Amino acid sequence: MYKTETINIKTDFETGIEKAVALIKAGEVVAFPTETVYGLGANAFSEEAVRKIFKAKGRPADNPLIVHVADIAQAETLGEISDKARMLMEAFWPGPFTAVVRKKAGIPDVVTAGLDTIGLRMPKNPGILEVIKRSGFPIAAPSANISGSPSPTEAFHVETDMAGRIPLILDGGHTEYGLESTVCDLTSDTPLILRPGAVTAEDIKELAGMVEISASVLQPLNENETAASPGMKYTHYAPNAQVFVVKGPKESTVAQIRKMYEKDESGGGKPIVFCFASDSVYFKDMNVLTQGKDVTEVARSLFKNLREADAMACTTVYFQAVPETGIGLAVMNRIIRAAGFKLILVK
Ligand code: AMP
Ligand code: MG
Repeated sequence: MYKTETINIKTDFETGIEKAVALIKAGEVVAFPTETVYGLGANAFSEEAVRKIFKAKGRPADNPLIVHVADIAQAETLGEISDKARMLMEAFWPGPFTAVVRKKAGIPDVVTAGLDTIGLRMPKNPGILEVIKRSGFPIAAPSANISGSPSPTEAFHVETDMAGRIPLILDGGHTEYGLESTVCDLTSDTPLILRPGAVTAEDIKELAGMVEISASVLQPLNENETAASPGMKYTHYAPNAQVFVVKGPKESTVAQIRKMYEKDESGGGKPIVFCFASDSVYFKDMNVLTQGKDVTEVARSLFKNLREADAMACTTVYFQAVPETGIGLAVMNRIIRAAGFKLILVK
């Protein structure tokens, strides 16, 4: 058991960074904000330190971690960077873009779950970048939640999941995007999106001329299928409440949600509706969490709202589907998993 300390790096940057660097150097695990979600980081070269991440999260050993670097030069020491990979890194780094490339020797197998590839990302948040630079190590870091639960977008979410399990949380306020990075396999000619994020398929296609999206982004894997991105096969982002995604024309989704909502309520449940602020008029007399004015704001508030629904002891969450374009693909990827693929199609 650790006594977990939280340091606000907006007001106390130097203290926070110094402590984080000392702990990382000592082989410990530290939570920190990135522009995507909060991460749980350790020295990527130390098998023992990385094992502590898996333990703190309860993460399955066959789900690889993303390795965070300070620049492209550091990425080159860890993976084989093709011209195309370099072009995409130059365009999207620092930022929410993870490049999966062939792995070089040096990083322990526990980080990459024994794969011959490695996921590399240069984050934008100045705090974590400074920790990587000062410690001198690349930092292996998954999201800072207990495996399976929604990723943390605020420091108190990390405290909820990690208190006692890690020594330090750096608090940098609400993260910018609210969803994890785009994971893109660059080991063959056509970039393949394994997990969508704020760097969109459209962004990648514009630069690379082509892009593919893995079938597992919006569909469950068949039982005997191996996952290109092992993380995609696990239950993910799930609150305690049951989540339903309702997709179709607005009047029909509103009617469907109302019907199911009323049934839940009369059965003693506590339902809640997640919708755009402008749609809350349709759900006036109901329990609603508005998600903002556009899909970018939906992305930013999604995990926070899922955690809030649990804090309110809601039993069901109804989510109006968003278009699967731009960052909407990432939102649908996460919410469909949170719903255990319970998609309700209405006409
Ligand atoms: P998280 O760290 O929780 O954001 O999850 C990292 C995601 O990146 C998971 O879905 C992993 O399966 C995926 N990932 C990391 N490294 C690789 C890799 N070498 N090949 C494919 N997917 C990867
Ligand atoms: Mg995660």
